[in-house]
Amino acid sequence: MAITGIKGFNDILPGEVEKWQHIEATARRVFELYGFAEIRVPIMEKTELFARSIGDATDIVEKEMYSFTDKGENQVTLRPEGTASVMRAFIEHKLYANDPVAKLYYLGPMFRYERPQKGRYRQFHQIGAEVTGVTDPKVDAQLLTMLCHFFDELGLTEPTLQINSLGCPECRPIYRQVLKEFLRAKLELLCDDCKRRFETNPLRALDCKSTGCQEATKEAPSVLDHLCAGCADHFARVRGYLETVGTGYSINPRMVRGLDYYTRTTFELVTGLLGSQSAVAAGGRYDGLIAELGGPALPGIGFAMGVERVALLLAEQEFKKRPDLFIAALGEPAQAEAFRLMTGLQRQGVSVEIDYEGKSLKSQLRRSDKFDARFTLIIGEDELAKGRGALKNMDQGSQEEVPLTSDAVVQRLKI
Ligand code: ATP
Ligand code: MG
Repeated sequence: MAITGIKGFNDILPGEVEKWQHIEATARRVFELYGFAEIRVPIMEKTELFARSIGDATDIVEKEMYSFTDKGENQVTLRPEGTASVMRAFIEHKLYANDPVAKLYYLGPMFRYERPQKGRYRQFHQIGAEVTGVTDPKVDAQLLTMLCHFFDELGLTEPTLQINSLGCPECRPIYRQVLKEFLRAKLELLCDDCKRRFETNPLRALDCKSTGCQEATKEAPSVLDHLCAGCADHFARVRGYLETVGTGYSINPRMVRGLDYYTRTTFELVTGLLGSQSAVAAGGRYDGLIAELGGPALPGIGFAMGVERVALLLAEQEFKKRPDLFIAALGEPAQAEAFRLMTGLQRQGVSVEIDYEGKSLKSQLRRSDKFDARFTLIIGEDELAKGRGALKNMDQGSQEEVPLTSDAVVQRLKI
């Protein structure tokens, strides 16, 4: 029996890959407008990097990591997300030495041992961006605006932006305590997961999907009513700047993130179109993370979006590339001429297809239709003798004679 791929690990085939290329190219183009440079980090890191940054009591570290021991007895993990690796590299290469403000973006595969379903896979892809060294809320608003700009450029009206603040090491513990006291009386309603993490991570009950947890947290106190003065002011200014530039948002005080390093501004881009896989992009501030990983005490903020989910939102759109030209040639001398012309045209930036098997004119034209070529050039014996072929504009149906030189053909294709 033929060997198949591993469950949850997908191939991205021609036909679908054009959409991915479009998403990636749009991200690069938009992010570079905002001054972001690409960083490429390895897909594998020491396990302790993720354990320390993401947090021991999170779903990712508790049960989703692809961790194993390599032949040298090293504990390694296939990266479940990008921020930890980017910050590890930022610290290791002292990228802050010249300028503490770094704007970095990345794209690539991530790995989580989850139950595969539509929009949720074991190897999936993220495009993410990070800014270090700025506390000012303008940068929060800018990052969110850039993310919305990206979705606008893709022509998507979904997802929409939700924001929240998770406070800081000064005010979050107080809120945690208040929430714990509130939940203690309703402990019986919580799902097993939330019961278990009641001590370590009670905030997770706020965005838990189980009906019991939703019931228990209905009247729960809001984190936004418990922010310290500094966090409340920061959040108000983020909102002010978003309004200044017209970036639409709604406030979701129940939003918590599944990673421990977040502080203050957190956000998600959510959609109702993908069932329970509603988060298309997510992120927030991580003002303590860089120091926690052994770097300087610099703040940071970032996001990651799931490319599979963006691709699902673009599902209806057609991204297949059309060749500029198909050359149909009859007889060996004309086919040799078509081959010569094709190669010259490709060097001039024209995409060209031919038929390799010397089939009938009819079957060659069928192949041209299949490629959906913009133009078809026909070279038979007569055309070869005259040095002029018949060039047909497939969209308009018009036809004209054209000299069989790449310069002449390039000229006509432009019109
Ligand atoms: P979810 O709530 O759907 O599990 P998450 O909170 O675990 O998402 P993050 O860790 O914030 O997600 O990752 C950012 C984005 O990466 C998500 O918004 C989502 O689009 C995407 N993503 C996360 N896990 C997967 C997965 N297993 N398969 C596909 N995409 C994923
Ligand atoms: Mg998850």
